[in-house]
Amino acid sequence: MEKFNVEVKKGKSLLGYKLQIVDFENVIITVGRFENWQKIIEDKKEWILHHLAKMPVKKNLLNQKKINILGEEYGLNISEGKNDSLIFFDDKKEIFIRVKTMTDNYIKKMIDKRIRPKALKIIRDKTKELSNKFNIKIGDVKIKNQKTRFGSCATNGNLNFNWQIIMFPMDKFEHVILHELTHILEHNHSHRFWGKLAEMDKKSYLNNQWLKKEATKLFIV
Ligand SMILES: [Zn+2]
Repeated sequence: MEKFNVEVKKGKSLLGYKLQIVDFENVIITVGRFENWQKIIEDKKEWILHHLAKMPVKKNLLNQKKINILGEEYGLNISEGKNDSLIFFDDKKEIFIRVKTMTDNYIKKMIDKRIRPKALKIIRDKTKELSNKFNIKIGDVKIKNQKTRFGSCATNGNLNFNWQIIMFPMDKFEHVILHELTHILEHNHSHRFWGKLAEMDKKSYLNNQWLKKEATKLFIV
C-alpha cells in the first residue's frame, strides 16, 4: 500500500516530531512549529509503510458476505432493525446480525461486543481440552481487548485471549492456545519454550510463521 492518511498535530515545542501509526492506513504526526511535516513524512515514508503493513487491515463488513470461524465458512447476513442483535445458527452456518445503524463502524462495535460470549465459550472449551491433554494446570481464561496480540499469560496461570482468534483455521487457533499454555511452564521465549511448544504442536514452526503473516488479516474489528 502506498497511500495513507496523515493527521497533523501541532506540538508545544519549536523543533522535533512524533510519528504515530494509528491503524493500517492512518498516521498522526505531531510536529514542532518550525518543522516541515511534509518533508518529515517524505523522509520517513519507508519506515511508515513498513509499520502500516504490519497493522491489521480493517475490512468493510457491509461488503462482506462470509466470515470464517475455525476454518468453517459462515454466511454473514446484516440488516437494519429496531434493535441490535446477533444470532448464530451453527447448524446452518449462518450469522444474522441486526443493527440500529447501518454503518461499518457501528456494526463492528456491535459484533465486538456481542460475539464475545460465544468466542469465550469456544476458547475456554479448547483451552480446557488442550490443558487436560497435556496435563497443564490453568487459571482463569478471559477475553481481553488486544488489537495486535493473540493472547497473554500471567504468572498465576491466568490466560487472556483476543476473541478474534476464533477466526483462524483450527490448527492455528490451537497453536495460539498451546503457545499460552506453554507460557505457564516457561515464562519466556527461550529455546526451552519453543522446544516444549513443538512437542505439543508438531507443526509449531509452520503455524507460527502463518500467524505472523496471515493472522491479523482475518481480524474484522
Ligand atoms: Zn509468548
